[in-house]
Amino acid sequence: MKRNLDVPWSYTGENGPKYWHTLCEWYKEGAQFPYQSPIAIETSKTIAGNAKQRLTFSYQIEKFTEKEFKNTIHFVPFDCQSYVVFAGEKYGLTDIHYHLPSEHILDNQQAPLEIHLVHMRKDGTNLVVGVLCDIIPGILPEGPLKKAQRWDLKEHIEIFNPELFLPKEQRYFHYVGSLTTPPTKGPINWFVFKERHQISRAFLSQFQEEILKGNNRPLQDKKDRKIYFCE
Ligand SMILES: [Zn+2]
Repeated sequence: MKRNLDVPWSYTGENGPKYWHTLCEWYKEGAQFPYQSPIAIETSKTIAGNAKQRLTFSYQIEKFTEKEFKNTIHFVPFDCQSYVVFAGEKYGLTDIHYHLPSEHILDNQQAPLEIHLVHMRKDGTNLVVGVLCDIIPGILPEGPLKKAQRWDLKEHIEIFNPELFLPKEQRYFHYVGSLTTPPTKGPINWFVFKERHQISRAFLSQFQEEILKGNNRPLQDKKDRKIYFCE
């Protein structure tokens, strides 16, 4: 399978979400996974999760660099020291990025922003944690910047504990879906936090505004999927 990362895609027009699966064979194959993301989650229609659905976070302070690709800003760790454990398996944190507005809808509410913390198991299987956020007015150094150990966008080096992107309450929904960007492959274990987090406008204003607008994939059919709620 040719994995051409240069096949352009976007959120509007002829390379938009409706046509992603037509842009190349790799995207076509990903789109064939029947349970796509994002979806609308309704708390009242979830199943109580148990220990099997639990996610354990082992995040620590580490060094990241920020890059612009795939229509958003990404923070990429140098050494991949932070990880989560799900079903007895370790998934290393490989990428943090944003979508404006949120991709997942919780109880009929779309949030202004959604953070994705992307993890990967040794065999390449992904696990994604989604955090819906409000954008609060605030000036520097409110929001994530306050706890950052080093924040240097000029040198492209940031040192922080990625837990600053997680809300305080560890209550989350778990379901199986897909990546929300091409090649939209699955299965991906998704964990979407119930509580909204807060990001300051000053934090976002550090990045070019035009790439952080409308980069959310439309809702996908939930079908008969089970959604667990762990609290
Ligand atoms: Zn994402």
